[in-house]
Amino acid sequence: MNTVLLTIDDIASRNTPSIVDDLCARGITAVMFAVGMNVERFWNEAVYAVQKGMIVGNHSYSHPAFSELTVEEAIADIEKCEAVLDHLYQDAGVARTFRPFRFPYGDKGGENKGALQKYLAEQHFDKVDDRHIPYAWWREYDLDKDIDTLWTFDFEEYRIQYDPTFTQESIWGKTQDNNPKSGAALFGENQGHILLMHAFDETDAVWPGYYRHLLDYLQENGVTFDKPAFIKQ
Ligand SMILES: [Zn+2]
Repeated sequence: MNTVLLTIDDIASRNTPSIVDDLCARGITAVMFAVGMNVERFWNEAVYAVQKGMIVGNHSYSHPAFSELTVEEAIADIEKCEAVLDHLYQDAGVARTFRPFRFPYGDKGGENKGALQKYLAEQHFDKVDDRHIPYAWWREYDLDKDIDTLWTFDFEEYRIQYDPTFTQESIWGKTQDNNPKSGAALFGENQGHILLMHAFDETDAVWPGYYRHLLDYLQENGVTFDKPAFIKQ
């Protein structure tokens, strides 16, 4: 059984509604981690995601590397995004039930990690249910205790926008890599994942409908999508 939670980062974008429509047609609910300033830029697209039932989480306002910020700066950036998302849900007419958070670049804040986890817990950010993740390293690195949402497999499909050495073939190669440098193999016996894709118009320009191709491939290979669930603290 290969059960995954799908997460899509860096919304909103022009292609967000197309991604949402494709997910809805497949019956998949994703957690979409929003960058506050992208939501301000593509407001209607973000409203659409909320109204169609996607869970829009906080991915910071300005997408900084959190290890380069003071705790105060980090919290200010998170809270600026919170204000945007509160307004977004209000405008969409949808109750904001869950508030998951993801650090940009998987950067948990370096020496401020403890303080930021404490902040996320005290502010009642919602921890994604990660009990389906079977990998020992997930617990060895205490990722099962962290409030923020990391991932176990990143397609890195956005790299085809700017990295000439990284092609569609590279992405398919990644999906077949049984011994990846980071994260876990996508396929295999008893895998359980938090998958990471991105919402970038620039990726769509290079590889039209990239998310459709990736989702087709996952479903053809028997991947089951979990409804997002959260562990109440
Ligand atoms: Zn991001």
